[in-house]
Amino acid sequence: MNVEALSCQCCGAPLKMGNSVCTCEYCGQTNIVSGETGKYIDLLNRANELRQKCEFDRAFRIYEDILDRNPPFVDILWAKTLCEYGIEYVQDPASTRYIPTLHRIKDESILNSDSFNEAVDMADDIQKAELKNAAMTIAGIQEEYLNIAGNEKPYDVFICYKETDDETGLRTPDSETGNKLFELLSGYGLKVFFSRITLQDKLGVNYEPYIFAALKSAPVMVVIGTKAEYFNAVWVKNEWSRFYKWQELDDQKLLLFACDDITDLPYAFRRMQAQLLSEPDAIENLAENVRDHVFKIKGDNADLVSAKCPECLKILHIDPSEKASICPHCKKPFIVLDAIVKNSPSGNRIKCPHCGKDQERNKYGCIYCHKPY
Ligand SMILES: [Zn+2]
Ligand SMILES: [Zn+2]
Ligand SMILES: [Zn+2]
Repeated sequence: MNVEALSCQCCGAPLKMGNSVCTCEYCGQTNIVSGETGKYIDLLNRANELRQKCEFDRAFRIYEDILDRNPPFVDILWAKTLCEYGIEYVQDPASTRYIPTLHRIKDESILNSDSFNEAVDMADDIQKAELKNAAMTIAGIQEEYLNIAGNEKPYDVFICYKETDDETGLRTPDSETGNKLFELLSGYGLKVFFSRITLQDKLGVNYEPYIFAALKSAPVMVVIGTKAEYFNAVWVKNEWSRFYKWQELDDQKLLLFACDDITDLPYAFRRMQAQLLSEPDAIENLAENVRDHVFKIKGDNADLVSAKCPECLKILHIDPSEKASICPHCKKPFIVLDAIVKNSPSGNRIKCPHCGKDQERNKYGCIYCHKPY
């Protein structure tokens, strides 16, 4: 039996439910509620709390679980969309209003995401207006981040690790190992994302555009962890789990682990090959493996362009001089030009005829002036 009240998606305060949209008495944020919400208050509060702690994958799984067992609800589809884009509502110190921060930008606008559009299709008119407003705000911030990310040169390697121990507040040995790996790889002429160095001049700005650019472009990620808790630290996990999802779409991406003890690895990865840091020349060997993979990919891709299969949406590396090809994943034939356009960020862009601002096209209208195109 549920005795708790549903909590606000921003400030976590209990909501007084009544209508399909209810305004939080404490922070003023509007929350979407559906007829079925009452059945899952405990689970929804738990998922919401996880999302606000940036545990996006764990929150996402709770929503997926509820949706697996039920017909879709508008509020759960929306909450799931918030996880997909890594939305954390952060209180603005000046206005005390909660504003969305994005920790998982994608190439695709939230306004074009399936779960958002499914939510809108099921929403009543008041909910539709609220959803559209909230998503437009997020889409605007995402465009800004994507512009920053688009100016970053492609990376070769992403080093994922925990910089500071939460208990001692001291620099971790993982950071020292990462530093050594960074120096070796840089010595091979590779462009390496190592947050201690790469982000050191980015203080006070949001890191997400730089992290996104590196996750997307780097063919290799090395995850370093000398303790299980470091592998599972929120931000470390957010980085490797995003890369892992990318790797499932792009078989040229390689995920490598380095640890003291295999049993420290996240369960799903224990059967993968990992570099044991206790072995002699461990970091040197790791650096050579990474270098060889990057050089091989670069050689293989010298005359190829990256594209996306129009059928299964997996990333392909194809010869642009050919007219048609067959996808190695889904075995379906496709037109080469279609696959290239499908993967191009400029493939779905529009200049708003009212305000003149460039953006990804969507069916709701301009994310800046809110007028239909
Ligand atoms: Zn609130
Ligand atoms: Zn395919
Ligand atoms: Zn406009």
